[in-house]
This record gives sequence, C-alpha cells and structure tokens, in this order.
Amino acid sequence: MINENYYKIKNEISQYVTLICVSKTRQIQEIEEVYKLGAREFGENKVQEFIEKYESLPKDIKWHFIGHLQTNKVKYLVGKVHLIHSLDSIHLLREIEKRYAQKDEVANLLIQINIGKEEAKTGIAIEELEDLIKACEVCNNIKIKGIMATIPIGNEESCRKYFSKMKLIFDNLKTSEHKNVSMEFLSLGMSKDFKIALENGSNMIRLGASIFGERNYKKTEG
Ligand SMILES: *Cc1c(COP(=O)(O)O)cnc(C)c1O
Repeated sequence: MINENYYKIKNEISQYVTLICVSKTRQIQEIEEVYKLGAREFGENKVQEFIEKYESLPKDIKWHFIGHLQTNKVKYLVGKVHLIHSLDSIHLLREIEKRYAQKDEVANLLIQINIGKEEAKTGIAIEELEDLIKACEVCNNIKIKGIMATIPIGNEESCRKYFSKMKLIFDNLKTSEHKNVSMEFLSLGMSKDFKIALENGSNMIRLGASIFGERNYKKTEG
C-alpha cells in the first residue's frame, strides 16, 4: 500500500516540488519501505524520536525537522538535519547560532509563520517577522531558506486564503535583499490540502498520512 501511495503522489507532483515523507510515529521498517522506492527526504517532529531514527537509517537521508523546537534540544540536531522548518523566535535563533558555531556548522532554516493567528499554534506572528529577519542578518552560522506554515483547519476557500497570504510574504521577501536570507522554499501543504497548496505556489510539501496511512498515536506512544 505504501508503494502505491508513494508512486501515485510522485506522479501527481512536478519534479520541482520537494516531497517530504513525514515519518513521525512510523516504524523503521515503514520508513525503509519508502526509502527503497527512492525517497530521501523525511520529516520528524520530536528530537528524541528523530535521533533514534537518524542512527538506525541510511546516512544519505535528508532529515527535515518540522516540529516545535525547544532551545534546550537544539544541540542534538547540529550536523544531523538538512533543514529546520520551525524557526519561530529570536531566542531560538540565538541558540541555533551558538550551537552551530561551536561545531563550525551552518544551520539551514525556514521561518515558521503563524499565518492563521492561532493561539494554540507555534510560529512567529507576521508583525514580528521583520525583527527576526534583522536578527538573522547579523548571524554567521545560519541561512534562512524560506518560510513554512501549518494553516487552520477549514474548507478549500479558507485554505486558499492562507496559502496565498504565505505566497505574498514569500514573494515580498524574495524581492528584498537581506543578508543570510534567500527565499528558495515555500513549505506548505499536508496530506489533506497539498494540491491546493501547490496551486498556490508551494514548492515543498510535507505528507504523512497520504503515504503511510493514518497515524495511530495510541499504538506508538502508549
Ligand atoms: C504531521 C505533520 C505533517 C503531515 O501531516 P499529514 O496530515 O499526515 O500529511 C506535516 N507537517 C507538520 C508540521 C506535521 O507535524
């Protein structure tokens, strides 16, 4: 079933779109199954779980950290992740800069934006974006590669609204010059809404359920 899902999606999307297989809660075996089909970009949202998988799986995997990142856990990611999608504060930026500098590494980051202004969600408010970007300009060990959001649950029209707001921010940042900032990736779209996201300019989608099937949190976390 995983192989049918994977090939179906690969056929539906352009070669210019990065497909991240979101492997959180999945067993090593399931991840290996997709790996064997050619997938090399995987997404995890918990540091501990990521480290375990990182150590058991092939080293040519590009790991995406897509969950909320606590400052005290940054040190575990240095040198192991390809892209962190969840930069959401200056405080976190300072810790990333410090830990990556210690190991003489450069962190590739996306700024996560709380585009729906949801209280329960992480991500920076649009109003705080400018200050965060200014703080990025004086760093030496980070590169901002784009922006990311998870949008509020809603109908197609509401999805379109939030995706296009993100696209506007992306395009604006693309035309302005900031040191350490280049807009390469617009990380938008999950299993239920990735087609709408792609229609609205996304070039990086994060899919879990549509590849691996529905997640069963009780089974894996209990
Ligand atoms: C879990 C998760 C996904 C994937 O969600 P699906 O609905 O399973 O496709 C994408 N992005 C983030 C940030 C996630 O936490």
